[in-house]
Parts: sequence; C-alpha cells; structure tokens
Amino acid sequence: MRDSFTYVTHPARVIFGSGTLAELGKEAERLDLSKVLVLTTPAQAGQGEAVMAQLGATAVGLFDQAAMHTPVAVTERAVEFARERAADGLISIGGGSTTGLGKAITLRTGLPQIAVATSYAGSEMTPILGQTEGGKKTTLRDAKVLPKTVVYDVDLTLGMPPKFSATSGINAMAHAVEALYARNGNPVMNLLAEEGIRALAQSLPKIVEAPDDADARTRALYGAWLCATCLATSEMALHHKLCHVLGGSFDLPHAETHTVVLPHAFAFNATAAPEAAAAVARAVESDEPAAALFDLAHRCGVPTSLQSLEMPEAGIADAVSIALENPYWNPRPLDRDGIEAVIRSAWEGARPSQNSA
Ligand code: NAD
Repeated sequence: MRDSFTYVTHPARVIFGSGTLAELGKEAERLDLSKVLVLTTPAQAGQGEAVMAQLGATAVGLFDQAAMHTPVAVTERAVEFARERAADGLISIGGGSTTGLGKAITLRTGLPQIAVATSYAGSEMTPILGQTEGGKKTTLRDAKVLPKTVVYDVDLTLGMPPKFSATSGINAMAHAVEALYARNGNPVMNLLAEEGIRALAQSLPKIVEAPDDADARTRALYGAWLCATCLATSEMALHHKLCHVLGGSFDLPHAETHTVVLPHAFAFNATAAPEAAAAVARAVESDEPAAALFDLAHRCGVPTSLQSLEMPEAGIADAVSIALENPYWNPRPLDRDGIEAVIRSAWEGARPSQNSA
C-alpha cells in the first residue's frame, strides 16, 4: 500500500435506490428551485416529459436536444431557452451527454444542476466537462460544474438496452482500473475502485441475460457510482487518453471504444502496476485479469475490436502520432512502439494476455 498520499474528495449528495425519481420535487425545494429547466436527449424525451408532469408548475420547460460530446452550438441554444423561461435551475435526466449539457449550461449561467443519471458513464460525479466546437473537443475541470445533487434511480435503468448497458458498464470499469494505478492514487479510492469493478463484472452478464433483473441493475448502478467517484479525482492515463484520441479522430462511439480498448491498455500497464493488477484480478476473480476483461465484453456480445467499430487500419499510425503529441504520465513509460502495439491489438481484437504488450 502507498504510505504517502493526498486524499481529495468533492462535495456530493447522492440519492440512490428504486423509485428515487419521486424525490425530485423535494430535492428541487431543498435547493430553493421553483423554475427548473428539464434536459434530456431526443431518445429520452418521454422520460423528460414524465419529469415535467411530475414537477408540475416547478418545471418551466423541456430541452430535449442533448447530444454526444456536448456541442457548443446546442449548449448556446439551451442557454437561450433557459433565459427565455427565466429558469433558476436544471434537472437533467440521461447519460453522460445529458449531464454534460447541464454542466455546460451551469458553466455559462451558474444555474445549479440536479443530475438524474440513467447510464453508467459517470459524468454526474465529476467536475469534468468535454465540449466540442469546430470539430475539436476540449476538456476542462471546474468545481463549479459539479451537479448539486445526483439521483440514481435503478428503475430508470431497467429499460437501458442490454448492449449499451454492457458497454456503458465497462466504460465505468475503465475509470476504476485507471484509478488503481493513478499517479495521485490513494487507499480510499482503491477500495472504491476494486468494489466498483467487482460489482460491474458480476452484474453486467446477468443484465445482458435478463435486462430487467432488478438486483443486477441495482448492483451495476452502485458499481457505476463508485467508478464515477474514482474518475472525479483520479488522474487518468493511457486508456482514457487513447479513447479520447480514437473517439475524436475517427468519430467512434464513446462507450464501445472504452470497451474495446480497456483490456489492451490495462494489459500494457499491468506489468508496471502490480498492485493495481492484483486488485483487478481479485475484482474479476481471475489470475488473467486483462483477458477476463476481454472475455466479459465477449460474453456480453459487445464489440471487442476497433475494426468492428469501423476504424480504418490506416488510421492506426495517425492515432499513434496524435497520442504522442502531448506527453502525460502513465505507470509504464510510453513510446511509439508501445502505443502502436496497444492500438493494433485493440484494432485486431486479439484476446490479451497479461504480458502481451
Ligand atoms: P449518452 O448519454 O450519449 O447516451 C447514449 C444514448 O443512450 C442516448 O440516446 C441516451 O438518451 C440513451 N440512454 C441513456 N440512458 C438510457 C436509459 N437508461 N435507457 C434508455 N436509453 C438511455 O452516452 P453515455 O455513454 O452515457 O455518455 C457519453 C458522453 O458522456 C460522452 O460525450 C462522454 O465524453 C461524456 N462523459 C463525460 C464524463 C465526464 O466526467 N465529463 C464522464 C463520462 C462520459
């Protein structure tokens, strides 16, 4: 165990359980909000309308145009809508895209956000905001954008498509895996990380088999919350950096890209981070944890290669160059050959062994 560390945490109010959506009115009142704008995506407009109906006069409008990677143009329209309706707060209901829109509005207006998280991506617990403008994604960290309250209602996840549940859950596991070897890691975060990985590894295959298994859904959402807490304060490394590069350069889907890359980035780093590797091994109950992460995706029937996400093979060299542009800390030193080996094995979808990279 590390015998020297700095432990930092963010203020959080988390309402977790089944039926917790019913608490929204009370949570709005607690924050003194009487004119909230409800945010969601077109796909979840029905859930947004249900929240509007539930809140009655407290809800002054529904903006259902949240989109992946938080396009600034969408945020500007939402800010305008919030001003027209004189909103004094935000309730977002959705995955990372919707929470991201809420954060982007908070950044520009100061309006507080209550985030109802319906996927496992984890944005709701973090002060991180990625925004896209002119085809470029920039990421900032600002405590101001942290939601004031996070509501996790297991019932809202029962209808999450099983394959998206699996990729979103593995996306969450990636936050915890990288927290375990983070440069600013600490023993408290390690406990959350290992438990978060365990909860998701056990529940995701059950969810794919029976998407409305309430116990498995509860455990998965609990795991996702823990992993999100890890993402909030831990410095991410190779895995997140690569996913950012690959997603941005080839317009690859967020959760699937994390799912494909994780076993390979982890296999590469595991040799340099034996304690982290041992924690992941305990959590996934395998002495070949990188292969076990790969097998988990395979068992859940979700993509296991970048090739299957339609990334062109010729893009590997470009991705390596972009990934090397801005150096960052990683437990294992990074060079062109190492990064190329990770991207190539992820592109091919080879089952990694612990020392494969
Ligand atoms: P998403 O929010 O784009 O959701 C994908 C689709 O699934 C959307 O149509 C959404 O409406 C739908 N959906 C979500 N939950 C559902 C449910 N329970 N039932 C049915 N449909 C549901 O995808 P995501 O993976 O949750 O989030 C990805 C985005 O979040 C990316 O832009 C990523 O960069 C960002 N993100 C940010 C952070 C951060 O800390 N800033 C962390 C993780 C992800």
